[in-house]
Amino acid sequence: MTALPRGGRPAKALSAVEATIETRWRSFLVEYGVTAGAKEEADLAEMVVADTSAFEWRVVDAALDRLPCADCGNGLGAGPAGCENCDRADGFRFAAIETDKPATPPGTEHGLRVATAVARTRHRYGARARCGFELGLPVLLSGELPSTAQAQAYRAAINKLTEEECERVTSFEEVACLSSRRGR
Ligand SMILES: [Zn+2]
Repeated sequence: MTALPRGGRPAKALSAVEATIETRWRSFLVEYGVTAGAKEEADLAEMVVADTSAFEWRVVDAALDRLPCADCGNGLGAGPAGCENCDRADGFRFAAIETDKPATPPGTEHGLRVATAVARTRHRYGARARCGFELGLPVLLSGELPSTAQAQAYRAAINKLTEEECERVTSFEEVACLSSRRGR
């Protein structure tokens, strides 16, 4: 489980999403008749990573968690940006299947999976990018998808913050409050 340094609602949302990733993986093991911790679990994870487009994103993310990168030794796709093997695995991660929940705007599940990936491998992104995605987690988890205009307004407000502030804020309301003091 990833402890999100900024805490607050984004950290709670990330824990909740990570719990669904683990639950989904356990049911996936049952579907394939594989025992957790057995060698077959790693084989199954290899199979998922070999064709990410055939599986749900939670299954793909759980599979990546279970495989070490042969080059950098971190979780596959979770090494430093610039590890070619991880960069490639992280790219394939996004080919996975995303199914919107009923009664949520199309694209909400995509937003949630991207925000989750950023929050779980935050060292691969800049302070402003991870600020936007991590603050978006609780919003997306509640089934809301910010409009393009809203997302642009959030981004403009985040750009007025220092990197230190970007790491500390826990909500878009806080970002708006800090940025409004900056003027234009
Ligand atoms: Zn790596």
